[in-house]
Amino acid sequence: MIYFDNASTTKIYPEVAEFICKYSQNNFFNPSAIYHQGTEVFKDLKNSKQELLKLLGTVKHKLIYTSGATEANNFALRCFIKKNKKILISAGEHSSVFETAKILSENYNVEFIKLNSDGLVDINDLTNKLTDDVGLVSVIHVSNETGAINDLAQISKLIKEKCPNALFHSDGVQAFGKTPINLSHMGIDIYTISSHKIHGPKGVGAVIFRNDLLPKPLIFGGGQENGLRSGTENSANILGFVMSAKKMISNLETNINHIETLRTALFDNLKDLEFNFNGHNTQRIPNIVSLNFNNVKGEVLVSMLENEDICVSTGSSCNSKHSGNRVLMQMGKTKTQEEGNIRISFCEENTLDEVKKFVEILKTCVNKIKGLNIWKK
Ligand code: PMP
Repeated sequence: MIYFDNASTTKIYPEVAEFICKYSQNNFFNPSAIYHQGTEVFKDLKNSKQELLKLLGTVKHKLIYTSGATEANNFALRCFIKKNKKILISAGEHSSVFETAKILSENYNVEFIKLNSDGLVDINDLTNKLTDDVGLVSVIHVSNETGAINDLAQISKLIKEKCPNALFHSDGVQAFGKTPINLSHMGIDIYTISSHKIHGPKGVGAVIFRNDLLPKPLIFGGGQENGLRSGTENSANILGFVMSAKKMISNLETNINHIETLRTALFDNLKDLEFNFNGHNTQRIPNIVSLNFNNVKGEVLVSMLENEDICVSTGSSCNSKHSGNRVLMQMGKTKTQEEGNIRISFCEENTLDEVKKFVEILKTCVNKIKGLNIWKK
């Protein structure tokens, strides 16, 4: 199988899976228990937070673990917003931010910041919308559709100049482990990450926020996570997540270089096919490639590739059951371009041979579909 859908999820590192299995058996104790086996687990979780914060380059933030980035994004939007304040979110957000903002719009004024045709946030539109009543701004760090990287430091500076009391949240799911991050330097107040995009287990994530902020809880109960997120901690998986994160960050440069090579090979080999590329050419991570071929439906192509044992997607998995691609539409793509979209997403374990084989099969599939189109006419 050729797996090029790593923006959707990644295969867990074998050593992480092994660790989780052993820890679940040997250290299954409840971290809230007062006997030493429980307090040991609690200590492991506490230390892991320091390790994760270090990987994010900050001593000015704290974090709580969640069931993934969907919960983390819900927490970020719902638990920090103050009454009568406006929420600004970019039109390029993942559904976990977008749908939450839509619900919040029943009680809050929510405005959307436009995207440029390259998928980045429109800075002029953001500037115009930064009025005194803005309480929270949410801008995705790396687009899960195109891989475009928003300049968070620049955006944060703008927010702090125009609305000093507004909080700045960024969804860092597709950025963490894929591009260097320093939360202190970037001026971010709240940041969210997920484990399964970096070869960690599914169902684990974190929300990281400035030390001095006092959010309300999203989930109530036994008062775990300093009362901010009740429920017995998913200890083994949390520690597995941090283990994956450490490996990803320590190999970051090597991984980026390798994936750049794969990306270059992909485009070199695609030369004789006509296609439209979606996203920013340089301000992007190398992992995600979004494109479409003229007169070729994305869905048809994805299923033909599946028959050849190749996994790619038509875009974000969280959107795949809805019709249309909201983000591409906001970038001004035509309906045909949007419907034709396929997203190829690499990880460091993919190889040049896989890319070459993929393009060969892709060409056959595209030509077959085009042939059928012509035949139909
Ligand atoms: N944000 C982005 C940008 C994502 O790509 C995803 C996963 N598709 C999420 C949030 C949700 O993460 P999780 O699956 O951990 O809930």
